[in-house]
Amino acid sequence: MRRPMVAGNWKMHGTRASVAELINGLTEQNLPTGVDVAVFPSCLHITQVVDGLAGTAVAVGAQDCASEAQQSALTGEVAAAQLSDASCSLVLVGHSERRLLLGEVDELVARKFAAAQSCGLVPVLCVGESLAQREAGQTLDVVVAQLSAVTDALGVEVFANAVIAYEPVWAIGTGLTASPEQAQQVHAAIRAQLASKSPELAGKVRILYGGSVKAVSAAELFGMPDIDGGLVGGASLNADEFGAICRAAGS
Ligand code: PEP
Repeated sequence: MRRPMVAGNWKMHGTRASVAELINGLTEQNLPTGVDVAVFPSCLHITQVVDGLAGTAVAVGAQDCASEAQQSALTGEVAAAQLSDASCSLVLVGHSERRLLLGEVDELVARKFAAAQSCGLVPVLCVGESLAQREAGQTLDVVVAQLSAVTDALGVEVFANAVIAYEPVWAIGTGLTASPEQAQQVHAAIRAQLASKSPELAGKVRILYGGSVKAVSAAELFGMPDIDGGLVGGASLNADEFGAICRAAGS
C-alpha cells in the first residue's frame, strides 16, 4: 500500500506578506494524517515557510536545484546541499516550465536528480507530454523517454527514494484536467516501465498526477489504482482549496 502524497508547487508566486497568510491558512487546515503533504515555495521564501510550518507535518521542498550538489562558484544557482541545510526535504526536477521555457534537457534533469539525492533530498521527477505530442499519439513514448533518461544514467534503484509526477503540459495552468482514465493509462505505463526492471520497486514508487487539479476533480483522480496523489500548482495558493485536495487524497 503506497502512502498518498499531495504537493503544492507555489511557482514564482508570493510576497513575504502573502506567504505569511498562506502559512496561517495551512496551519488552520485539518490535514489528513495518512497523507504526506509538502509545499514548494520560491527559494526566497523557503526559510520563512520552514519556520512558519515548524511543528506541523507539512514538508517543505524547493522547485529546482543546481546540477552541482555542493556550494561552488555558480552565480544565481542554489545547491542541493544548501537546500538540505535550509531544512528542505524534497526538490522538483524537470518541471515542464523549466524544460520548455528554460531549455532544460533530460541529461541536465538527471544530473539535478542525482545532485538532490546525494544531499539526502527526495527528487520529484516531473514528466509529461505537450498537446502536439498527445495529438500525434506520442504520449507514452515521450514519458518513457523522460523516465529512461534518469534510469539509464542512474539505474532504476534511485526510484526507491524518489517520487514521479506525471504532468501533461496541456493540463498545467490551463484549467484542463486529464480525465482519470487518461491519467491512469500513463501512470500504469510509468509503473510498467519501472516494473520491467524491478517489480518490487515499481510497486512502491509514488506517482503523482499534476495538471489543474482542484478539490472537485481530486477524489476521482486519486481513486485510480496507479495515481498516488497530486502535484498541485494554482490551487495550492489557496489554503482551503489545497486542504480539501489533501483530504481527498486521504479519503
Ligand atoms: C504544476 O505546475 O506543477 C501544476 C500542476 O500547475 P497547475 O495545478 O496550476 O496546473
